[in-house]
Amino acid sequence: MDKVGAVFGGSRGIGRAVAQLMAQKGYRLAIVARNLQVAKAAAGELGGNHLAFSCDVAKEQDVQNTFEEMEKHLGPVNFLVNAAGINRDGLLVRTKTEDMISQLHTNLLGSMLTCKAAMRTMIQRGGSIVNVGSIIGLKGNVGQSVYCASKGGLIGFSRSLAKEVARKKIRVNVVAPGFIHTDMTKHLKEEHLKKNIPLGRFGEALEVAHAVVFLLESPYVTGHVLVVDGGLQLTI
Ligand code: NDP
Repeated sequence: MDKVGAVFGGSRGIGRAVAQLMAQKGYRLAIVARNLQVAKAAAGELGGNHLAFSCDVAKEQDVQNTFEEMEKHLGPVNFLVNAAGINRDGLLVRTKTEDMISQLHTNLLGSMLTCKAAMRTMIQRGGSIVNVGSIIGLKGNVGQSVYCASKGGLIGFSRSLAKEVARKKIRVNVVAPGFIHTDMTKHLKEEHLKKNIPLGRFGEALEVAHAVVFLLESPYVTGHVLVVDGGLQLTI
């Protein structure tokens, strides 16, 4: 089977590290994000024949068009990584409805839309999907109730889809990171937060990428949630 991968959110952070690892392992990749320039730069850095696409995962038509373009230029996508995500942290009483909607639409609906779009060809040829959740989706956190709902929902969605499509030789798994050094966490006070992390530090995007690629390529693993958090789940 040709190794054609689509990494949504592949232009920065965790998704970008996943793309780097997949490129090293011989995948032909679509790097997808809203900002095409940044996605192009990330695709260019990989060397080889990888392509960048602009897409807002929260918009169904965007997602459909992107899958059509990816298939036209790369062939059917048989490896899908959903790493596009945003957070709008704050206590619920201070959270604007538009910020609730944008988190749910990007983090949860977005992955549903890309998975649905990928099914069209995966149902005939098999495939592997990894959705990037969060340890917060399992444990909850003050100031992150909506983000937690999006990531908790993503776990429920992924486990259900794994059951639904297993007979079509499609696997669906989740990686649930803890605190990882990326743009998303650069405003956080690491000195304070790392006291709760048994391994004593934030993780690196590449450390999550190894878990994502492991699940992408593990032929007998589906419906699994792999936590990559330096042991944070043991203490919170
Ligand atoms: P970054 O902010 O570094 O990167 C986010 C990526 O998602 C970018 O490529 C961004 O590109 C893309 N993106 C955001 N919104 C959209 C959208 N609507 N449509 C398409 N692409 C979009 O985040 P991280 O790498 O840190 O996060 C990656 C995933 O990991 C997220 O789902 C996040 O929730 C999750 N996570 C991160 C943790 C951390 O500590 N960093 C911990 C736990 C989970 P662009 O802006 O151009 O669209």
